[in-house]
Amino acid sequence: MEILFSDAFTKSLKKYSSIKKAIKKKVDMIIENPIALGEPLKGNFRGYYSCSVRRNFLIIYLYCKVCRKKGDNEIVLCSDCDKCSDNTIKFLELGPHDQAYGKK
Ligand SMILES: [Zn+2]
Repeated sequence: MEILFSDAFTKSLKKYSSIKKAIKKKVDMIIENPIALGEPLKGNFRGYYSCSVRRNFLIIYLYCKVCRKKGDNEIVLCSDCDKCSDNTIKFLELGPHDQAYGKK
């Protein structure tokens, strides 16, 4: 499994350092089982997965195996998808619900 963290994710991890442990635990769980744990998003976020760390606090990520299977890589904003292996997980966003989705 190849794991990538976006700058935004890394930044948020610092910002929410008080729950860093809970976040890291969740990240590990996602890496173990990315499809079972995530909830697929729709609309503009099609192809993305979200997983809640706690109530209203989300991790947003992409799993490249799924990007491709769905043929979503043409609409999903998965940069360099074709250069990544199938087993790549990209952690993109982290934060309270409205902020995690607030990227426009
Ligand atoms: Zn991808």
